[in-house]
Amino acid sequence: MHPFTYTRVDDVDAASAAVTTDAVSRAVQQPDDTVFIAGGTTQLDLMRDGVWSPGTVVDISRLPLAEVTVDGDTLVVGAAVTMAELARHEAVAGVPVLRDSLLLAASPQLRAMATIGGNVLQRTRCRYFRDPEVTQCNKRRPGSGCAAIEGTARTHAVLGVDAGCIAVHASDLAVALVALDARVRLHGPDGDRTIPVAELHVRADDDPARDNVLRPGELVTHLEVPLPDARSGYLKVRDRASYEFALTSAAVVARLEDGVLAHVAVGLGGVGSVPWRASRAEEVLRGRVASLALFEEAAAAELADAFTVPGTAFKPELARRTLVRQLRDVTGVTA
Ligand SMILES: Cc1cc2nc3c(=O)[nH]c(=O)nc-3n(C[C@H](O)[C@H](O)[C@H](O)COP(=O)(O)OP(=O)(O)OC[C@H]3O[C@@H](n4cnc5c(N)ncnc54)[C@H](O)[C@@H]3O)c2cc1C
Ligand code: SF4
Repeated sequence: MHPFTYTRVDDVDAASAAVTTDAVSRAVQQPDDTVFIAGGTTQLDLMRDGVWSPGTVVDISRLPLAEVTVDGDTLVVGAAVTMAELARHEAVAGVPVLRDSLLLAASPQLRAMATIGGNVLQRTRCRYFRDPEVTQCNKRRPGSGCAAIEGTARTHAVLGVDAGCIAVHASDLAVALVALDARVRLHGPDGDRTIPVAELHVRADDDPARDNVLRPGELVTHLEVPLPDARSGYLKVRDRASYEFALTSAAVVARLEDGVLAHVAVGLGGVGSVPWRASRAEEVLRGRVASLALFEEAAAAELADAFTVPGTAFKPELARRTLVRQLRDVTGVTA
């Protein structure tokens, strides 16, 4: 592993001050990179594999950001809370979409180490991105091409992508968060700001080299998750029953009033370069009488413009079926 300087900080201002380049927000490595590390379950892999060799690693795992509180109808989650801690919080028991997005992710050991902040900011699992011997990767080397287009692309994305990069965003939690209209609190050298989780990530077809909108020195301090007055659920389809990333997934939050979808919010996973908010499907569904035919119309609308390569040709259909099934399960409407 490339030598690096390690430093641990104990307050958020010191953390922001320590990161002076925009390494956090850009996928492209700069020689003087300084990066944050929280649970380390992604960051250490990238460093060990030689994909990302920062000069300085700033350990933020001991920041006083490890609390979950309920503020009115909003769950406020510190960025250093682990996935396991959040999954077992009593307020999360009533929000299946959130609980299951956590419990269906990774393994118990990983969930005990991995933090909420690190989960939503994890890098893509694209095998070509994670192999420094591969020279064609627009995410690592802008303008070099994309090895995945003609390679093994079974786990890659079909929404928010083009021929420049088809990397998928891997977080299950982030998919649930976009369906819950969650927000993320950021702290940086220029102060604090709060943005929707749906605006945190950058689509690959906008800029494959940029993963998120964090500014230099900015860190995630909290997530704000509105507790929904609605039913919800998270369905994850994967190649094996546990310890596997999603091929497709669907997060659905919905409330029926007299058979009409008075509230509906949908996130899709395993198919987007960002945690995918299925706005087209929601437009079809909102305010209409729930039925199987309507669910199918909505799912088809969402996937209509999917960008596929031979390896991902199966995904739009799998994603349509995943979404229809989850709309059925959450609403209880089956005909
Ligand atoms: C084998 C394996 C299987 C997995 N399966 C799944 C899965 O099925 N579903 C899923 O969702 N995830 C899965 N993961 C990913 C795992 O959930 C993430 O690695 C983990 O959540 C990252 O959290 P961390 O605290 O370890 O982050 P780290 O590795 O410490 O950091 C990850 C990135 O986030 C940045 N970062 C961390 N915290 C902050 C912060 N507060 N502010 C700004 N930047 C920050 C770091 O700089 C780094 O770039 C899997 C991982 C492995 C290794
Ligand atoms: S899909 Fe994106 S991350 Fe993967 S090789 Fe292509 S450009 Fe790189």
